[in-house]
Amino acid sequence: MAPIFYRTFIKGPGPTRLFIGGLHGKESETTLQIMRNFQNSVLNTGKLHLYNFPPSPYVSTLERRYYDTSTGREVLNLIKKIQPTIYLELHCYQEKNRSKLIHPDRKTETGAPPLVELKNGVLIGSVSPVIRSAFFKKYDFPFILEIPCQPSSDSLQSYLEVLNITAGSSKRSEILNKLETLYPNEIAKLKKYFVDFSDNFLTLFHESREFVLQSDLMDSDDLLNFMEDLTQELDLKLSSVQLEQVKDAVLIFLDYKPG
Ligand SMILES: [Zn+2]
Repeated sequence: MAPIFYRTFIKGPGPTRLFIGGLHGKESETTLQIMRNFQNSVLNTGKLHLYNFPPSPYVSTLERRYYDTSTGREVLNLIKKIQPTIYLELHCYQEKNRSKLIHPDRKTETGAPPLVELKNGVLIGSVSPVIRSAFFKKYDFPFILEIPCQPSSDSLQSYLEVLNITAGSSKRSEILNKLETLYPNEIAKLKKYFVDFSDNFLTLFHESREFVLQSDLMDSDDLLNFMEDLTQELDLKLSSVQLEQVKDAVLIFLDYKPG
């Protein structure tokens, strides 16, 4: 699925950023308007790539099968090719889905922590834990930013503010520090989720990836057994949904690994 919009901006040496919209459903229409209005003057170092994909059937990016869809495969190929350290998915949501996205039980049901509302319906959170672990380093910035699909001008303004901070910063800590001055309580929540993710999900992912790379694996049941044993041994806090996601992340890592 070819993108319907893409731009690359370069301001000398510095980090590589990738922003993607139109990941699924009809979100494309909303995110295209946002990308078209983006002012690249906020960029002061490095590169920024903007991509927007056309409408496609809706599959949640938290589901493994999303990455087998035509757009999902494009997204992974782009991440592999561009290797951004700052990655932002632009999403939009219907009002009826808002409570589900920010609900405290989201992690139990989907394996991903709840999104956090910043202001005016703008929600922020980490990308799917599967691609978070398979493609990004611990201190990269892989986030998603959600806006109502029919945004008010206040929503748009708050959304663009976060977009501009992300494009105008060169690393994770700089982005989070700037956001923290605007949204201290909300960023505190994100930091808590990050610690939980790093201590549990990411720890198991790294161990499992090493295990697979060193043992010429094998079938995925062996991997799952290894993961279950290690989860007990290290007393990791991971649900069965998350165990399955760690496994998916390792398999996706193998499919897309460089070289
Ligand atoms: Zn979405």
